[in-house]
Amino acid sequence: MAFLITILDFLFGCHHANLSRVFTLGGETYKVCCDCGAKYAYSLDTMSIERRLPLTPVLTRFRIA
Ligand SMILES: [Zn+2]
Repeated sequence: MAFLITILDFLFGCHHANLSRVFTLGGETYKVCCDCGAKYAYSLDTMSIERRLPLTPVLTRFRIA
């Protein structure tokens, strides 16, 4: 199943180049796609994106009151 998800993610996942600056929140360092909201784990050691993080319900984590 993970293989299928990887293929679908490759075909339909984020391929945007419009990424935010680097954020560190809750011990996680990441960039966010400004077009679709996909999160990318970012390594401060190599100063590069490591991998795309699994989709999370962003709206439930960053509630705007
Ligand atoms: Zn995107």
